[in-house]
Amino acid sequence: MSVFDHPEFDQHETVKFISDAKTGLKAIIAIHSTALGPAAGGCRRWQYLDSTAALTDALRLSRGMTYKNAIAGLKFGGGKSVILATDAAPKSADLFRAFGRAIESLNGTYITAEDVGCSVADMRHVNEETDYVSGLPKSGASAGGDPSPLTAMGVLLSIKAAVKERLGTDSLTGVSVAVQGVGHVGLNLCRLLHEAGAQLTVADVNRHNLQMARDELPVTEVAPNTLLYSNVDVLAPCALGNVLTAQTIPNIPAKVVAGAANNQLATEQDGARLAARNILYAPDYVINAGGILSVAHEYIGNSSEDKVLAEINEIPQRLNKIFAEAKETGEATNLIADRMAQRIVAAGAKG
Ligand code: NAD
Repeated sequence: MSVFDHPEFDQHETVKFISDAKTGLKAIIAIHSTALGPAAGGCRRWQYLDSTAALTDALRLSRGMTYKNAIAGLKFGGGKSVILATDAAPKSADLFRAFGRAIESLNGTYITAEDVGCSVADMRHVNEETDYVSGLPKSGASAGGDPSPLTAMGVLLSIKAAVKERLGTDSLTGVSVAVQGVGHVGLNLCRLLHEAGAQLTVADVNRHNLQMARDELPVTEVAPNTLLYSNVDVLAPCALGNVLTAQTIPNIPAKVVAGAANNQLATEQDGARLAARNILYAPDYVINAGGILSVAHEYIGNSSEDKVLAEINEIPQRLNKIFAEAKETGEATNLIADRMAQRIVAAGAKG
């Protein structure tokens, strides 16, 4: 199948396939839109079923970044990269350097950072070959560094807003939250939720990450394949996408879905499926923008973490606007968010 016939192809401006024989690197960089500025979005390293699955992820994630950056008020377009994790291409400094050279060849139309499976250390290696990378070690009070604690902060504020909207309470004390995935963002979110008085249920397929959460926090552990069906107030997907589907939604007891994972909805129609069950869905790319706000300010330079935090504090206002429109029109929250983003991009493309 040609990339142009792929069901997730959405007029992406550039899709670059990278192969480096020396390191075994196989990667895809997808630039969805540069209408608002250079495309910004992280790099995911994951073991995909096959290269078609990797392409699907890159196409969907990059479009999500266009929408995320637009709604977050950033002058950046949307892009994303995926590295296909295989035994033949283990994580190495050389592999990330080869990836850095591929980014450099795009002449600044795409700026990368951390996503699932990548760390600050990996981005340092990318940075040895290109300056079009962010999420590098930070110094002092300047913006930057690992974006995941800031992503978690925005998600926490959004969970609070969604709980207020759906459960009518200002406090998270005693509110039960199931967190799927306790990696970089999920564990930080658990810490914040615990501080706010929430009761935590967690699952992870990675035993090491799960143990870290268990060692540090009072959590109830459940099997990964049952987490979605936990009898909780809030479900916070913080692992991978496509978890909210025609099959899973009918069995989700939570009243609110608000988490960090990108592309939580398998299809656009799944937003309406959640709404039909009176489950309030906080659109993923609206609430998980804390990290991109951090890496964008770091990239632009001359910015402080305080400025990033001030912008993260604006996320719940956007979310409340979406909730208000959903209440008024009965439309699903994901469709309202998509329309908002599309309007901003269209206005930017004209200007
Ligand atoms: P991560 O790799 O550090 O953590 C993901 C965790 O999910 C891992 O511990 C992994 O083992 C676990 N996991 C994978 N499949 C699972 C399953 N089926 N059930 C339970 N756990 C599972 O990644 P991260 O940086 O924390 O990102 C998590 C999600 O948030 C991703 O979807 C990412 O795109 C999104 N996100 C991250 C950031 C950021 O700042 N890192 C920003 C915005 C969005």
